[in-house]
Amino acid sequence: MTNGRKSAIDVFSSRPTELEKAKTSKISVIFNENVFTMTKMRTYLSSSAFASFRDSLENRTKISREIADQIASAIKSWAMEHGATHYTHWFQPLTGATAEKHDSFFTIDKEGNAIERLSGTELVQQEPDASSFPSGGLRATFEARGYTAWDPGSPAFIMDIGGGKTLCIPTVFISYTGEALDHKAPLIKSMEAIDKAATEVVKYFDRHVKKVLPTLGWEQEYFVIDKAMYYARPDLLANGRTVFGRAPAKGQQLDDHYFGAIPERVYAFMLDLENESHKLGIPLRTRHNEVAPSQFECAPMFEAVNVAVDHNQLLVNLMDRVARRHNLIVLTHEKPFAGINGSGKHNNWSLMSDDHTNLLSPGSTPRNNLQFLTFFINTIKAVHDHADLLRASIASESNDYRLGANEAPPAIMSVFVGSYLNNVLDALETRVDEDFSDEDEMDLKLDIHKMIPDIMMDNTDRNRTSPFAFTGNKFEFRAVGSSANCSRAMITLNTIMANQLKAFKKDVDILIKKGERRDSAILKVLRECLLSSKKIMFEGNNYSHEWEVEAAARGLNNIKSTPMALDALTQNKTIEVFTSEEVLSERELRARHEIFLEEYITKVKIEAKIIMELALNQILPAAFKYQSALADTISKAEKSGLESKSLGVHKEIFYRTSNAINGAYNNIELLEKTLEEVNEVSDTREKSIEFADKVKPFFEKIRMHVDELELLVDDTLWPLPKYREILFAR
Ligand code: ADP
Ligand code: MG
Repeated sequence: MTNGRKSAIDVFSSRPTELEKAKTSKISVIFNENVFTMTKMRTYLSSSAFASFRDSLENRTKISREIADQIASAIKSWAMEHGATHYTHWFQPLTGATAEKHDSFFTIDKEGNAIERLSGTELVQQEPDASSFPSGGLRATFEARGYTAWDPGSPAFIMDIGGGKTLCIPTVFISYTGEALDHKAPLIKSMEAIDKAATEVVKYFDRHVKKVLPTLGWEQEYFVIDKAMYYARPDLLANGRTVFGRAPAKGQQLDDHYFGAIPERVYAFMLDLENESHKLGIPLRTRHNEVAPSQFECAPMFEAVNVAVDHNQLLVNLMDRVARRHNLIVLTHEKPFAGINGSGKHNNWSLMSDDHTNLLSPGSTPRNNLQFLTFFINTIKAVHDHADLLRASIASESNDYRLGANEAPPAIMSVFVGSYLNNVLDALETRVDEDFSDEDEMDLKLDIHKMIPDIMMDNTDRNRTSPFAFTGNKFEFRAVGSSANCSRAMITLNTIMANQLKAFKKDVDILIKKGERRDSAILKVLRECLLSSKKIMFEGNNYSHEWEVEAAARGLNNIKSTPMALDALTQNKTIEVFTSEEVLSERELRARHEIFLEEYITKVKIEAKIIMELALNQILPAAFKYQSALADTISKAEKSGLESKSLGVHKEIFYRTSNAINGAYNNIELLEKTLEEVNEVSDTREKSIEFADKVKPFFEKIRMHVDELELLVDDTLWPLPKYREILFAR
């Protein structure tokens, strides 16, 4: 057996230098090619069936069996014309990945003839064997069934996998007793909640608005590395993160990667990825290098939150498959490499009314300004009141490595609004009352119009260290992890905002009833919201130590580990908000809590195992070999009569190596023992806290010794590709 690292380097070095030309097409021609859009549906359905379907979608009414049969038949015809032979219900269970179970259209009819069919029933509902998806106790083991139900709001699409084509039908995943077992069902409910609440509030400004849609534009950061390097790193394979590895001499110090020229192999991959994405209707627009070597980002145009979430899940799926065609591997882990920037998935979020007005866009008239201020300040208040819940919505084992590291948003939730808006808010705070006597002139006196000029849209007033920043016409939730399903963050944001808008409207209406003019009532309540949310607003450097200190003084939480962050899911306040908005029941919240804790524990266990395994059967043996060579040299030299003092360096390095070996091994023994103890804990929450507090600290300790060995041991003996090889092999 040869050294895995050497083989990887050989494979990489012998890759052809001539790249296959990427296939590119005009985007407007291929866009949505593999999606059964409403336009296509119209041509495949009778006009009455289409009208009935569209009506059901708009008014959220039940789709009749008869119409479902017609739609199923239409989708099947379209899919088969495009070469699909199978179909699958496509869903997003709480594992974080997407799930599919393929069935063939093929069946045998009563007369024994082979036919292809998709019935309305098959379109609408399926029963995957759900017993191995996490349910957090929602399904008793004897009743392991859950079912997937068609989500008519997301279009069906064709996945082109390994030459075969499969029709994917987006669905929600529900237990037999009706509880959500996925991300999608509560996401749709949260959209309904915010639609209702926001529409009521918009009516203060525009009576004609009938609908408000939350919008999401994500930015996906990721690393791309050579496939051979990946397979020579069992730690990357097991958990997407390197558990050992010294920072390379040249890392990201020079900042020469950011927005630099994209390496050619990666470029070919990106073109291919964009091509595939466009066919699936993912409106990708931007691509660039990120700060770290081999780190990149892509972003689409924003869409309705549910569609954007589907598209992000699809993209992550596509990235993996397309990269492999180019002998590359995409890493979506939040912190694949220590000492080098991690990856996030910024969630740009806003609200749009049915006349396409962005409610978080400062308008050009006083009226629009007041509407903007209303939604802007209510968002701040919602974040203030539910900061812990937002923190919980981004909590995961892998994101823990990124949050709070010195280049990532900290685990402290705060909102950045920029100096312009800060001035506006100051004015609002101090001048609302004095202006009330002269009501008609209030807009002018408050100068709302003048205070929020169009230059607000300027990008210079940015704070890239804030976990939740206002960026001119949307909020950017930057603390979301690169491997996360955006749903968790979006469900939370939609729900707390819906709840806040309802409370706001109630207060305004009370004042109006008491005889206050509408605009003054709105301004007065906004001022109250603002005064009670001050402590969440922070304009400085979020990465600094001073902020940690100040945040603590302000009483803001800094919850560093996932198990503690997840506590927010089952607090009374949370249960109240989620149940009153009808997004998640208490049972569902408790189940989610349990599922996320279990996931945390499982991931830490996997990391612990891979650390012990790699150290014991790859690192220590290499170190022993090196020591044996050193010992040989020393003893030969001593035998030949060389003076002992000329062997000082040899001996020194021998001892240093021994110390590192002992240090690593002692900690491995302790880790093993701790794992055994912690495994005995029966309460899931307690157990996960022990994993965070007792197990994880050994990872760093072992790593320190192993990284010391990487420095000492003869380079030719080292078994794992080093950072410089993984990050700079192109
Ligand atoms: P950045 O400087 O952060 O890269 P961009 O203007 O390029 O800013 O936008 C970043 C993201 O914001 C894109 O993914 C885009 O889709 C999204 N975005 C823009 N407007 C909205 C909106 N109204 N709602 C949601 N997302 C939006
Ligand atoms: Mg951004």
